[in-house]
Amino acid sequence: MKVIKIASQLQKIAFKHLKNGDNIGLVPTMGALHQGHESLILKSKKNDDVTIVSIFVNPVQFGPNEDYLKYPRPIKKDLELCKKNHVDYVFMPTVNEMFPNNYKTFIEVTVLQDIMCGKFRPTHFRGVATVVAKLLNISCACNAYFGIKDFQQLKIIEKMVKDLNFKTKIVPCPIVREKIGLAVSSRNLYLSAQEKETGSKIYKILKEVSIDFKNKSPHILKQSTISKLNKISNIKIDYVDIVNFNDLSSVNKSTKKVVLAVAVWIGKTRLIDNIILAR
Ligand code: AMP
Repeated sequence: MKVIKIASQLQKIAFKHLKNGDNIGLVPTMGALHQGHESLILKSKKNDDVTIVSIFVNPVQFGPNEDYLKYPRPIKKDLELCKKNHVDYVFMPTVNEMFPNNYKTFIEVTVLQDIMCGKFRPTHFRGVATVVAKLLNISCACNAYFGIKDFQQLKIIEKMVKDLNFKTKIVPCPIVREKIGLAVSSRNLYLSAQEKETGSKIYKILKEVSIDFKNKSPHILKQSTISKLNKISNIKIDYVDIVNFNDLSSVNKSTKKVVLAVAVWIGKTRLIDNIILAR
């Protein structure tokens, strides 16, 4: 396993692999790797000849009062997890390597970036789209793996790739959960045992509400989710939304496939989760 910190070096290696006919897979992450990331890595190991994991806590996607500085960076453990899973290259650039002082170019996926999480984190998806575009170009990825847990992010990246004619195929991967139902997340490291227990109720509620998907309107399902979440002390809702699976647009009773998505605060930690519902 090679650890690379310079973009041009990785790109040179990637060109060589492409010349040899190798299929390159990219797993973009911010580190603090867990079973969720591992599932993406395993998928790439299965599909691709070469697997690249990028570890970069991207300052451009954090708002001014967010957790950029305190975001966990357990580099040694992360490299061990990559090695254990036979990752070929770990790309770990510095902030200056990705966004030097004279950096000027940003990507915006309009409309999609302004709803759901975008309402609460107005510059977040511009930062995500920009860094992912750079990572796709640096890695020359044939496949790039993204978790359905960050559903809005997945849809924004899919749209960017389509609109800008990237040749990379975006591969969505299912949500990995802890036994208690809580979606695995690097930010779960911030939670106390009691907060984790509270967090486990989010998915229970999503499942409970889903039972009525076929016979209740999206509006009623949304209200029911809100009222169930509001009954849990120590949870503060940012949003609950039901959107079209294909493009995050609004839904009605006959929409075939939807996503019920939530963002909540438990103490000082913001968690997101979702469930896909289909008729
Ligand atoms: P992050 O390091 O949080 O930026 O996540 C990197 C990638 O891992 C993203 O595509 C996430 O959607 C994905 N991911 C994070 N948590 C999970 C999970 N519990 N299950 C599946 N994928 C996940």
